[in-house]
Amino acid sequence: MSDVELAPVESFELDHTKVRAPYVRKITVEHGPKGDAITNFDIRLVQPNEGEIPTAGLHTIEHTIAGLLRTRLDGVIDISPFGCRTGFHLIVWGEPSPTDIAVAIKASLEDIAERVRWEDVPGVSAVSCGNYRDHSLHSAREWCRLVLAQGISVDPFDRSVLA
Ligand SMILES: [Zn+2]
Repeated sequence: MSDVELAPVESFELDHTKVRAPYVRKITVEHGPKGDAITNFDIRLVQPNEGEIPTAGLHTIEHTIAGLLRTRLDGVIDISPFGCRTGFHLIVWGEPSPTDIAVAIKASLEDIAERVRWEDVPGVSAVSCGNYRDHSLHSAREWCRLVLAQGISVDPFDRSVLA
């Protein structure tokens, strides 16, 4: 080890070989000085080290789910892709359950898979995105269909898939 100092991060303590995606996992609940709670979730769409969503499809899912999820779930602060491209961090106000989250994610993925059209995808111009050429609704749809076919589990280790 070098003498560089790094704080421990929960996400890197998770044994990625033990999980069974797709799943929703509560990572942490943080409390602010006034008692407000913020919960961080691991929205894992692809089995770690067995695949990854290509960047263009992931980018389109990111843009679209940002709007779709907020129509179904109160208190969304951010939903952003993991660098490994197997899923998203979701940060929300309060302490919703993994089931609350999984229901909202599933419905949003269903929209992307079957209902969203290209003209619905927000922020696909040079003005509103940092890499607007790198989008694919086709890829987004196909990956959402694959996730939905496998089902979203509310337990990261034992499959407990939403009906
Ligand atoms: Zn973008």
